[in-house]
Amino acid sequence: MATISTFDMFKVGVGPSSSHTLGPWRIVQRFLAELRAAGYADKVTGFRFELLGSLALTGRGHATDKAVCLAMLGEQPETVAVDSIEAKLTWLRGSKEVEIDGRTVVFDPARDIVFLRNERHPGHANAIRCIAEVGTDTFVRTYFSIGGGFISRDDEVEGLSSDARALPTYPVYHAKDLLRYCSESGLSVSEVVRANERCWHSDQDIRARSLQIWNTMRESTRRGCRIEGVLPGGLGVHRRAPALLRDIVPDLQREDIERLIRTIRAADLKFEDLIRVVSCFAIAVNEENAAMGRVVTAPTNGAAGVIPAVMMYRACFGPQPITDEEVERFLLTAGQIGALFKQNATISAAMGGCQAEIGVSSAMAAAGLCELRGGSPGQVLMAAEIAMEHHLGMTCDPVGGLVQVPCIERNAMGAIKAIAACTIAEQSDPAQARVSLDEVIEAMWDTAREMNERYKETSLGGLAVKLAVTVGLAEC
Ligand code: SF4
Repeated sequence: MATISTFDMFKVGVGPSSSHTLGPWRIVQRFLAELRAAGYADKVTGFRFELLGSLALTGRGHATDKAVCLAMLGEQPETVAVDSIEAKLTWLRGSKEVEIDGRTVVFDPARDIVFLRNERHPGHANAIRCIAEVGTDTFVRTYFSIGGGFISRDDEVEGLSSDARALPTYPVYHAKDLLRYCSESGLSVSEVVRANERCWHSDQDIRARSLQIWNTMRESTRRGCRIEGVLPGGLGVHRRAPALLRDIVPDLQREDIERLIRTIRAADLKFEDLIRVVSCFAIAVNEENAAMGRVVTAPTNGAAGVIPAVMMYRACFGPQPITDEEVERFLLTAGQIGALFKQNATISAAMGGCQAEIGVSSAMAAAGLCELRGGSPGQVLMAAEIAMEHHLGMTCDPVGGLVQVPCIERNAMGAIKAIAACTIAEQSDPAQARVSLDEVIEAMWDTAREMNERYKETSLGGLAVKLAVTVGLAEC
């Protein structure tokens, strides 16, 4: 089984989808690296990328073709200037060429990226066949985008690729392992996870990575709380986060995230205003995601708003402003919960529907919050279990193949459920719980396997079909 670091679960990238944007971006980068390693980089004369399964069905709305283009232009998802993306894509569409190791190679996105809507790879719902023409021969590799920006090649066993790590101090495959280590060592959940991370990273690195994730989350929140207008894609969805905050935080005070937090901390808010503020944060991040802004996969892009919203809730409504140490503990705990779902079920909507995205992010956030509020290890795991229990069976049916409806509001729901799950767990005795986290993960995976393919990020069922008729979206 794979050894997964917290920092694998939180990847800095651009929206709108980790499996359909970030994963394909990484796939093309890996393909080019393998092409070079095979000694073909100076012989290549053309490329073709064939998108199969869910990538073909919702790839346009999820910007899969744009991700392929950006990777071919040599851009990195962590560093590309998000405001320059459209200009870069326009240039490529006009020039129809890319540079590979100093050589110009023809690449016409309209011709060389192909959406094979009727072909599904037997190995995974998200597959890309990458083809390079090298003289009279071809160099062909097929890869899977397996959720959360993780990728694998079709001939690899998932999690056993060449980047597999050494075994950590406390190998955690199931929630019961984590609970046993905590009970034997007297450590909290985040301390056990930190001990494992120390096998791969220095303390300084763990802190720096945690703060980089938090800063990226805060910046996407800040931008989303200010930017108004209509989201791209043709569905006519208006950005709503700024309006949700309007009478609570004046626009000028939203320029600086610390000022925004101080203003909310000083306000005497009613319960419904608190719900509004948390919903605003979740919606702000996911509107940024839908606009191809920079966000953190948590564990995916579609669900990128849940964890920032719950962390901002803690920052705005906790007993004192959130500290760097608390940020680290939250992320270590949440990351471990996400890893349990990845190892034993899925974090890919194309494999398991929205329960695998919003459900998992809600479980991660509930556990992280419970850890900061002093929950015992049993209560932390119980918080995650409760959050997932009430997302079981949730389908993925994005309208128009875009990550907007129902995705953006779903982040708000996931965040609120996470806070409720944490609150229930910290008032409960885990010894009396009837369902364990391991059992709910198993139930989620069983549900995923039995779910109709129409509800797994294909836009062929549910709201996607209803609204395709209403708003005339031919692509659905
Ligand atoms: S419906 Fe859920 S799983 Fe599907 S794209 Fe939207 S957020 Fe992701």
